[in-house]
Parts: sequence; C-alpha cells; structure tokens
Amino acid sequence: MEKRTLGRTGLKVSVIGLGGIPIQRVAGEEATAILKTALEKGINFFDTARAYTDSEVKFGVGFRGTKRPIIATKSMARDKETMARDIELSLKNLGVGTIDLYQLHNVKDRETLQKVQGPDGALAALKEARARGEINYIGITGHIPEILVEALKTGEFDTVQFPYNPVEREAEKALIPLALEMNIGMIAMKPLAGGAFKNAALAIKFLLNSPVSTIIPGVDKLDQVAENAALGQQILPLTEEEQETLNREVRQLGERFCRRCEYCQPCPQGIDIPMIFLLEGYWTRYGLQDWAVDRYRPLAKKASDCVECGLCEEKCPYNLPIREMLKESRSHLEG
Ligand code: SF4
Ligand code: SF4
Repeated sequence: MEKRTLGRTGLKVSVIGLGGIPIQRVAGEEATAILKTALEKGINFFDTARAYTDSEVKFGVGFRGTKRPIIATKSMARDKETMARDIELSLKNLGVGTIDLYQLHNVKDRETLQKVQGPDGALAALKEARARGEINYIGITGHIPEILVEALKTGEFDTVQFPYNPVEREAEKALIPLALEMNIGMIAMKPLAGGAFKNAALAIKFLLNSPVSTIIPGVDKLDQVAENAALGQQILPLTEEEQETLNREVRQLGERFCRRCEYCQPCPQGIDIPMIFLLEGYWTRYGLQDWAVDRYRPLAKKASDCVECGLCEEKCPYNLPIREMLKESRSHLEG
C-alpha cells in the first residue's frame, strides 16, 4: 500500500484509509473482521466520529491487541466544556491514551468558526488536550471550501477533511492549493460521493492521482476492504477510456447531486436544503434509513414545508431540480 505524508503532522498514512460511517450498521464481530482485514491489507488510517453512534466503540474493540493504526475522530461540540467531555469519551471508546488526530466536525459557517475559536470555544479544549498529550494533532472538517480556507488561514489546523470526488471538485479552486502551500494534511471524505458512483474503482483512481494525502471510503463489507486496498498498491494515471467513462458518470450524476455548497440558502421558508439532501443520501445510498430519519425529525422545517417558489433553483449553480428532489426526500424521510 502506498503511503503519503499527512502534511505537517509528518504521519505516514496509507493512500486508502477507512471511513467509519457505514460500520455503524455492521454487527460487532463483522466490524472487527473488517477492521483487522483493513490492517492486514496495509490500511493504516481510520476515521470515525463521536456522531457515528457506536463507530468509535467498534474501532476500540476492533483494534484491541493489534499494532495501533493512526486513528482520527471528531466532534460536533462547539464549546469548550462539551468538547472536553467528548475527548474524554472518545479516549474511552477507542481504548487509547492518545488520539492521533482530533477534528472539529463539520464547521459550516463563519459564526461557527468564530465560536469554536473563542475563549470558551471547542478549539481551546482541543489545545488543552494536546498539551496534556491526549491528542497529537488538531484538524477540521467541513463541506464548504470557503469556510475551510478561512479556518486554515488561522494556522491552528494540521489537517483538513473535505468532500472530494469526481463530481465534487470545488475544493480544487482555493482549498487544495492553500493546503498544499501551508503543508496541511488533506483527507478526502465521500470519495464515492456518498455511494453515488457506480464505478467506484475509477472514482478512487481519480483521487489517487490528486495531491490529497488519503481518501477514506466507508466500508461495511469485507470484500470492499480488499478491493479498495488493492487500488492503493500501484497508482496509475487514468487511461483515456477510463476518463471518458468517468466523465459520462459525472455528467449523469451531476444532474441530481447536491454538492452542499449552500448557494441556494437561505430558503424563505427556512428549509435547510443541503441538510435534507445529505440525509436523503444517507437514506438512499448508505442504507442508514433509521439513522437518517432520526436526524431529519428534529429539523424545524421539513421538505414538506416547501411552497415551490423556485428561488433556490435560481441560485443553485448546478441547476438541480430542487423542488422535485425535495418531493423525493419527503417521501423517504417523512414517509
Ligand atoms: S422552492 Fe421550496 S425549498 Fe426552494 S426556496 Fe422555495 S420554499 Fe424554499
Ligand atoms: S441544492 Fe444546489 S445550491 Fe443548494 S447546496 Fe445543493 S448544490 Fe448547492
């Protein structure tokens, strides 16, 4: 398995990592088998989150008695106290004394970025934990490249995790060049666009030819681990034919794929359109129906609140048929 340096952390990470969302729906023993197989195949970078229900615990159990890989986790906590509590929980769940990388999870707007950096913000707890040796490096994750660019400019973060795949390439404009310039480790999440790519191998091959340090496809089956790991053994450029196949899929997907850029916001009815499409993706592509519905239920405004004014569609740079897509989401998430 090819390894790359995770930016200024200096950690040598496998180009193929493993994302810990889908493992939530895998039974304990099978989850352990997946994690152990991943280790055997040379995968040494594993990413989980406090928000992924029992994923941290499964990592903790799965890696017990093995040579510890590099583990990253993250928390949605925005204030210092909650973050301190989450770090403690993560250490316990993962069964380690030190976590390699702890990330601020899904920082999606300026207000949140300011809040986490304030004197009582979550970043302060991460720095204190780092000073105590409970975490080694601090990272940030999110879906909006502009916000992540602002975050990196503060100099506080060692790594950045963002969606990157052949249909979501917004990070190429400013985020990736800045991360390269600042030597920030880059972790590509959603390499298969949340399971939307049929030709997974080509999507992964595309990413392996980019400057990201590691990509973290989520897996819930043993054979996927082996297939993904095999792609990281030898990195070859895409052939012309492969590029054409990929382009075709990107064109088809692009017609209904929300990149969570938020340009359609705000909706006059207060509907969080990208959040609904994110949950819809979990419902349709990840098979996490109950999980998606549980997160959809507390939303103040639902897909059914859409009055079809069409304002969002005028603002969407990808010309998505948002109204039609919301109807589909409604049938799944409110059905
Ligand atoms: S069409 Fe629906 S979702 Fe879009 S702006 Fe109007 S009310 Fe909001
Ligand atoms: S619906 Fe369009 S504008 Fe809104 S977040 Fe998705 S891609 Fe961006």
